[in-house]
Amino acid sequence: MTHQLPSLPFMATDLAPVLSESSLGFHHGKHHQAYVNNLNNLIPGTEFENMSLTDIVKKAPAGPIFNNAAQVFNHTFYFYQFKPSGQAKKRPEGALLQAIEKQFESFEKFVEEFSSAAATVFGSGWAWLVVEKDGSLAITKESNAGCPLTQDQKPLLTCDVWEHAYYLDYQNRRPDYIKAFWDIVDWAVVEERFAE
Ligand code: MN
Repeated sequence: MTHQLPSLPFMATDLAPVLSESSLGFHHGKHHQAYVNNLNNLIPGTEFENMSLTDIVKKAPAGPIFNNAAQVFNHTFYFYQFKPSGQAKKRPEGALLQAIEKQFESFEKFVEEFSSAAATVFGSGWAWLVVEKDGSLAITKESNAGCPLTQDQKPLLTCDVWEHAYYLDYQNRRPDYIKAFWDIVDWAVVEERFAE
């Protein structure tokens, strides 16, 4: 089975100024593509050759196959939660909003806590909003290719804090990237993931 790089669900110019065309071009066209290529080069002749991407992420031991498969999953998950600023649903509603308020008191407090988690991932990694096995929501931090699928958590939202995600647009100012990130998160997508 050959894994493919999914097309971006928007034009590469659409997320500016939060993420520039250049930044998205490298992030999706070079980094994401490289993880796809690496995975396709690594799996022939292994037990992972005909497995779905999510099964590889769940079953592969620590090492290059896991790293590249998880990075393919994580990046697709990240890009598909965005919409141009004017089109993105800016706040969650309904069952998701209730779950957020139950866990974090308010949407504003959730945003604050998630932003703080993303800002304090040491080195390369990801911040996640997940549903735990007991149905509660949690904010988690993962290093490198860390992915909630390996812990039976259902991912809802993620922020890529590898430097390649923000360095072209924000240089070392990770908190500025995280602040701008909220402008393009489409809560309609997150609601759909929660309802699935
Ligand atoms: Mn990335």
